[in-house]
Amino acid sequence: MKHVIAMDLGGTKILAAVVNEKGKIVKQIKAHTQLEGGWPVLKNQIVEICRELMNSGKKITAIGFGSAGPLHAKSGVLLDPTNFGWKKKKINFVKDLSKVLKLPIVFDNDAVAAVLGERWLKHSPANTICITLGTGLGLGVLIDDHVLRGRGGLHSEGGHLILRPQDHDAHCECGAPGCAEGFLSGVNFVKWVSKRTGRKFKDAKELSELAKGGDIEVSRYFAEYAELMAQYLCSLVVLYYPTEIVFSGSFAQAADLFLPQTKKIMAESLARQQASHKIIPKIRVSRLNNTNGLMGAAYMAFQYKTYHS
Ligand SMILES: [Zn+2]
Repeated sequence: MKHVIAMDLGGTKILAAVVNEKGKIVKQIKAHTQLEGGWPVLKNQIVEICRELMNSGKKITAIGFGSAGPLHAKSGVLLDPTNFGWKKKKINFVKDLSKVLKLPIVFDNDAVAAVLGERWLKHSPANTICITLGTGLGLGVLIDDHVLRGRGGLHSEGGHLILRPQDHDAHCECGAPGCAEGFLSGVNFVKWVSKRTGRKFKDAKELSELAKGGDIEVSRYFAEYAELMAQYLCSLVVLYYPTEIVFSGSFAQAADLFLPQTKKIMAESLARQQASHKIIPKIRVSRLNNTNGLMGAAYMAFQYKTYHS
């Protein structure tokens, strides 16, 4: 059986593994993303992790990376990643790593990897959108089995669509006040609620627990989150008409605090169109236990000869 190395590279965490053709993890490594020191330090960390995985006793045919963006997948270039906090604007990710690792490398956005992972292992339909909620908000759009991209193959950064222009309480590293990621990523939601309430919260997990425990103030912000998420998803639905929307990432675990309300608002907003052409998609949380990005990266690696053709 063939084996590849897959890596999900996020703004906070790295998940890497040796994966076989059936999507089974043979060996896995989790690490905190080393961003201080810039690309040279992160590059060394990635190389070390890959080398450790290469010693798993399995013959590795290729390496697949699903990475936080912005990026250009085909040319293997990382472009000033929103949540990395680096000064260098352009990183030759694939070129630099290929020199050291000497294996074919396939590289794409982490939310694209997530949608491919769902398609591969959970038989998601050919029209599926994946939304990753963690440090950032990633968007991967698969339409008629094609990954949608922007001009010249740039990954479309749909996490930065503007929801409330000039809402300066919602901070996103992209620099645009009021963008979707500024409200809806787990990390930014905590910052937004802290700013609005003047209270200090440790992380999104604490916020979820407070809401579940009946904290009225925090629950009100989850209700607002549900509205903003509905607004965001309605825009995606009328743009792309997906049959399924899948949430993953650490903050997707809080979906029961917003998704029922989000679905209710969407049903009301899209009622007229729904009556004529059934546009409301199935919306669910990934059942791949936050490994859909990793699995998609493995899928990409298995397709390395044709992935960018
Ligand atoms: Zn943004």
